Amino acid sequence: MKLTLLGTGNVQACPLYGCDCLACQRAVKDPSKARHLCSAVLEVNGKQILIDANHPQLQSLFPAGSIDAIVLTHYHMDHVQALFELRWGVAEPIAVYQPNDKQGCDDLFKHPGILQFQPPLSENQAFELANINIIPLALHHSKPTLGYLFCSEHGRIAYLTDTLGIPDQSWQQLLRHPPNYVVIDCSHSPLHRSSNHNNLSDVLELAHALPDSQWVLTHISHELDHYLMQHPDYLSANVQVGADGMQLIL
Ligand SMILES: [Zn+2]
Ligand SMILES: [Zn+2]
Ligand SMILES: [Zn+2]
Repeated sequence: MKLTLLGTGNVQACPLYGCDCLACQRAVKDPSKARHLCSAVLEVNGKQILIDANHPQLQSLFPAGSIDAIVLTHYHMDHVQALFELRWGVAEPIAVYQPNDKQGCDDLFKHPGILQFQPPLSENQAFELANINIIPLALHHSKPTLGYLFCSEHGRIAYLTDTLGIPDQSWQQLLRHPPNYVVIDCSHSPLHRSSNHNNLSDVLELAHALPDSQWVLTHISHELDHYLMQHPDYLSANVQVGADGMQLIL
């Protein structure tokens, strides 16, 4: 099982248009430090499962026929914007697994094109895809949002964004099935508090409570990158900063 982080930026991405902070300047000079919007692809048992759809080169990265399914965390535009072109494709239908959100995003449900929206997933009700079990986990965000625990014979990876904290029932699942990796929303530095997203203090506290998992930060703002440039020793041993293209392999 291999999870590739296609993007690790928050809604602003990095470099942020017009910003001359050190993190944005660094991302302009060194594209390996830039962050696309937050999404990932899971490769397992010969299948490719896209987690959210927003990459600017999505169609060239994934030619027709190469996406076996799409699993959505939620319908905020920064997580689904690539669906708006993809849906008009001339290709086999693509199954889209989703949280229970009657609104969705704009007119996606009215004009799905090749997207086959599946019945909404229920929290903690495992389903099977590509011969692995996937457990949807409730998250705390301003739109109905699910995280996912991917369970293969080689190990488990949790993908948890967007969220502030981890609701208790989801936390209990993580305790019952401890993941090898937890990819987690860490949008802000400890200096910035939001009602929708974790900051670094929130994540360090969670990582401390589940010390045997390796925690990988994603959905990162330029503000957090800037903070980490000034505080490079701030992370604990089981926490690492995600990067676009990073691969987690089990
Ligand atoms: Zn987001
Ligand atoms: Zn900046
Ligand atoms: Zn969101």
